Amino acid sequence: MKNFRWAEPQTMEQAVALLAKGEGKAYPMAGGTDIFTEIKEGVVEPEIVVDLSAIPGLSAVRKDKDGVRIGALTTVSDLAADAMIRQDYPGLSMAASSLATPQIRNVGTVGGNLCQRPRCWYYRDAQMVCRKKGGSQCFAAKGRNKYHAILGGGICHIVYPSDLAPMLIALGAQVTLVSPRGEKGLALADFYALPSKNVRRENVLATDELLREIRIPAAKKSAKSAYVKLKERETWDFALVSAAVQGTASGEGLSDPRIVLGGVAPIPWRLAKAEVSLQGKKLTTAVIKEALRSDLQEARPLQENGYKTALVEAAVSQALLSLV
Ligand SMILES: Cc1cc2nc3c(=O)[nH]c(=O)nc-3n(C[C@H](O)[C@H](O)[C@H](O)COP(=O)(O)OP(=O)(O)OC[C@H]3O[C@@H](n4cnc5c(N)ncnc54)[C@H](O)[C@@H]3O)c2cc1C
Repeated sequence: MKNFRWAEPQTMEQAVALLAKGEGKAYPMAGGTDIFTEIKEGVVEPEIVVDLSAIPGLSAVRKDKDGVRIGALTTVSDLAADAMIRQDYPGLSMAASSLATPQIRNVGTVGGNLCQRPRCWYYRDAQMVCRKKGGSQCFAAKGRNKYHAILGGGICHIVYPSDLAPMLIALGAQVTLVSPRGEKGLALADFYALPSKNVRRENVLATDELLREIRIPAAKKSAKSAYVKLKERETWDFALVSAAVQGTASGEGLSDPRIVLGGVAPIPWRLAKAEVSLQGKKLTTAVIKEALRSDLQEARPLQENGYKTALVEAAVSQALLSLV
């Protein structure tokens, strides 16, 4: 492992100034559960690690008149256990409880979860210079691709591994980003970027920019949400496919359903056509399967991951039917 310097800024302003000075060689660290693996394995080689943990005021879940504000340093276990989140946004609590192990949830943060790097085994192998690391090919395209993307891949077939991201997008979350140029708000859906936009990164964050806060709009009284995560094994694991859903109960169906998938694409993948098709309809497995057809027609499975389309049908059906 290459030596690096360590910084402990006390404010967000100091943190982004350190990142700016690092010119792409300074990396922020929150809980460290992902970035340290990357450093130890030589996938990234920072000159300076900027530890965010001493910055005050970033680790709380607060309700206000507009909804909920989640500080980027809130641990995943605090989010999962928050009584108000459980009550108003049960899908978010389910997503938070589903990820990793209790030890990682106790240390890992919400901001780190949303900014974590992909788990693709070619990306995580320092010897494999894939497109994400400046190379000219995606080794998964013709290699071992059981866990890779069936949608949105193109030049790079990673899947975005976060369990929180699909659920927060389904809930209409916004993020607040801070850089030396000031602060800006962005829909979380627009925070993520496909490989065709920038194959080296999974989001639009500049190298001197930090995620400070996540905001979720106030939950309507009759709104419901759920998260279904299908894994290869019962113990901790990343999603093969996950479905984050939210909607307002209306008869035996949902009005304004939102469906966002995890584990199938380089970014959380919204099923916009299915949402329109399911609007207000009585929900059955057959109706849901039919509604998914046009979105799934865009799927381009690789040699080993065609099974994911059936898992999408199963995860979305289970999640939506749990709401009615
Ligand atoms: C064994 C294991 C199992 C896991 N299982 C799952 C799983 O099932 N589901 C899942 O979703 N995740 C999983 N993870 C991934 C991840 O470690 C956790 O999700 C955790 O929440 C990451 O948070 P962190 O604070 O430790 O991130 P860190 O490791 O500190 O940071 C992760 C990345 O985000 C950047 N970053 C951190 N905070 C900010 C910020 N505020 N602004 C901008 N950039 C930032 C860092 O530079 C780094 O690139 C797993 C990890 C491990 C090791």
